[in-house]
Amino acid sequence: MAAHCDSAADSRHLIDVKVSPEKGLGLFANADIPRGTRIIAEPALLGKNADYTAKDVMKEFRSLSPTQQSRYLELHGYLSEDIKSQFEQELGNKMQKLSAQHRKVLAIYAANANGRIIYLHGSIFNHSCIPNVHYEHNSNLGMETFHAIHDIAAGEELTITYIHGTYRTRNQRQAKLAKWGFLCTCPACVDTPAASKADLKRAQMFDLDKLIAAEYLFRDWESVRKSAQKMAALQRSVGLIGRDLSKAYAKVAWACYQLGDRRMELLWGTKVLDIDLFCLGPDNPHCVWLAGQVVDIVKAIRKEEAQETAPEPTSKESLDAAKQGS
Ligand SMILES: [Zn+2]
Repeated sequence: MAAHCDSAADSRHLIDVKVSPEKGLGLFANADIPRGTRIIAEPALLGKNADYTAKDVMKEFRSLSPTQQSRYLELHGYLSEDIKSQFEQELGNKMQKLSAQHRKVLAIYAANANGRIIYLHGSIFNHSCIPNVHYEHNSNLGMETFHAIHDIAAGEELTITYIHGTYRTRNQRQAKLAKWGFLCTCPACVDTPAASKADLKRAQMFDLDKLIAAEYLFRDWESVRKSAQKMAALQRSVGLIGRDLSKAYAKVAWACYQLGDRRMELLWGTKVLDIDLFCLGPDNPHCVWLAGQVVDIVKAIRKEEAQETAPEPTSKESLDAAKQGS
């Protein structure tokens, strides 16, 4: 098991930028990368002050240093018809009337922005529906962090997910990915019996997600506990062991809390913390908060144990306590 990374320092020396088959540039491990490794921590290159309009993007691009501009222009660009017409509307101009560089800057932004933001390294990751890297903003560092979700072997491509596709079937995911202009050929999307079986499980997860939401509404915690455990098992069975799995565990833990089962709450809460530490790092504010929650559960259990094992007060003590209380 990998040691958790203690600082904002990353391990970018473990990755190389290479041409990925049919996907343009991609990031590849040049050595074995243990689970939980902070591969990259970096601030936004472009987009942090932009409001996702074509004008803002161009303004920010021009404010970059020449080196940053040339690194930006190395990224892959793609403009879907929808985004093209959105940009044309914002600019009040047809794309073909813009300079070649202007078009390229906008196409790169459209193809690479995670949310609204472009990262120097982070935007090179290709997509997989079973990603091996989790990315999330760390407000303590003011940076986006990219962590290995599981052990990654030397030579393997590092991937993130561009969409929230955990509970979506192949066809639904491909429709969402169309805005990037590619057909996903990850192990979950190829035409194999295993992928088809996994697809059925994703459809089951979609229904289960809706069911859990309803069980929450009715505060039916016994059902939440069972359904969220089933959700976690389904995710694990299709190779999804990132933060959606920890969110399923968190629902089990919450149901246990509601049912007054402190020990099971601790068990599931610890599972949540384990995954989140690996996906986010211990310096992420969410992990700091979560570790505090786990400590509180332990304290509550100790308090309950102390009450259970405390000797029965003698009749004189009871009398004294009653007097003090009155
Ligand atoms: Zn896929």
